[in-house]
Amino acid sequence: MMRAETTRTAWMGVLDKYHEERNAPVSSLYWSEKDIWSRDRTRAVQDEKIAAVAPFLYENSAFYRRRFDRLGVAPTDLHSVDSLIANWPVVTKQEMMEDAIAHPPFGTYTACGAAEWADRGWMHFSSSGSTGVPRVFRYTHFDRKFWEQANARALHSGGLRKGDTILPMVGFGPHVFAWGVQYTAAAMRLPVIPGGGMDGKARVGLIERFKPSVLLCTPSYALYLGRVMQEMGLDPAASSVKWLLTGGEPFSGVAGTVERLQDLWGAMSVEFYGCTEASPHCGGYSCPEYQAGDENFIHLMEDIQVWETVDPDTLTPVPLREKGLTVCTNLNSESSPQLRFLVGDYTRLDDSPCSCGRHHIKAVGCMTGRADDLVNLRGIKFFPVQIEEAVRAVPGTGDEFQIRLTTQPDGMDVMEVLVEHSTDVADAVAREIRSRCEIRCNVRVLAPNTLPKTEMKARRVFDERRK
Ligand SMILES: [Zn+2]
Repeated sequence: MMRAETTRTAWMGVLDKYHEERNAPVSSLYWSEKDIWSRDRTRAVQDEKIAAVAPFLYENSAFYRRRFDRLGVAPTDLHSVDSLIANWPVVTKQEMMEDAIAHPPFGTYTACGAAEWADRGWMHFSSSGSTGVPRVFRYTHFDRKFWEQANARALHSGGLRKGDTILPMVGFGPHVFAWGVQYTAAAMRLPVIPGGGMDGKARVGLIERFKPSVLLCTPSYALYLGRVMQEMGLDPAASSVKWLLTGGEPFSGVAGTVERLQDLWGAMSVEFYGCTEASPHCGGYSCPEYQAGDENFIHLMEDIQVWETVDPDTLTPVPLREKGLTVCTNLNSESSPQLRFLVGDYTRLDDSPCSCGRHHIKAVGCMTGRADDLVNLRGIKFFPVQIEEAVRAVPGTGDEFQIRLTTQPDGMDVMEVLVEHSTDVADAVAREIRSRCEIRCNVRVLAPNTLPKTEMKARRVFDERRK
């Protein structure tokens, strides 16, 4: 019991040492000086945090204690980024899920127990995974203050400033994204107009009357709402909206989709990337330069997290600038400071300096799909976003499209892609798909506005193959 308390006090002490309680940015460009720390300084802080968090997890999470003991690793063996990567294999969702099944309802992979929850419990979130048992994460008010500041750094970097007003158009379910932004808006002193529980036309009415400058929603919803506005005879680009603060779906790296959305609204998109497990607040974020090069990118906030990429098969590190799956070590939480959690989005990391002045590593091409979303058709693997890029590459295609996977009577698995267009663009779309995914498929062209409109998270893939 003693060791649980002393390691907790030590870990929370390190977190507090680097905490700044800000309600305003340190300068017009940066919310915090930490945004422009050198890479060496950031690395030293990561090392200090790892040395404190490893004993804390050993003493306060049964899941971690079992794992340390099974691997024959002592908490003191993990004292730096290098020793962590060398000694600690990545933690998968599967492992957490098995723990959640064996120890319902909370599992033992977090360090927020009944006592902490009763004393300073803030909010209960759960993973949004479409498969398996939901994994539950309880966060405390101690976590909340770190969460608010991380998000504030991200939103300031994306361009939000005092004077902006946010219109959240989300369900406020058990997912972290909108709740984090809600509390951050309060910390940044940005007013909020609640936009939940109403249809698109009512939300357009809010935009017209109260003139918010920021929409908070999924990319699919921003697209949907812009079209609703056009149908009402209004021009979204002429509205008060300057920023589209989006999350929940791969987006910024999908060629064609960002441009389509920004043109529709005459606004800039601000990316917000994280996960419930290890990066509950913003992990990946936009800066003023993120669309300036050949490929869009996001920064990953490194003084509070360690970001790496690993090979999808061996789960061992891949070199910088090569494609791999994202892994996050969260060094910014009392409740869920996970060590090397496999978030599982494909990207390429690049530590070259950014002209925005931030030294935080870049995820080039942004996130191009979670490993779980990978489609395997007759041995050829591709992501739904690759099909999306192909559809967007043909001028005049509608916003909606569907990927239908079926098994023919002869047992062969096939793909049909449904798109909307006023003329027959089947060959053009098929050619774009073939050039990106090296796969032949049938393309069916439907009249505009035939496919159901996406409101929240887009469902693009309908897999009806015989297994
Ligand atoms: Zn930058």
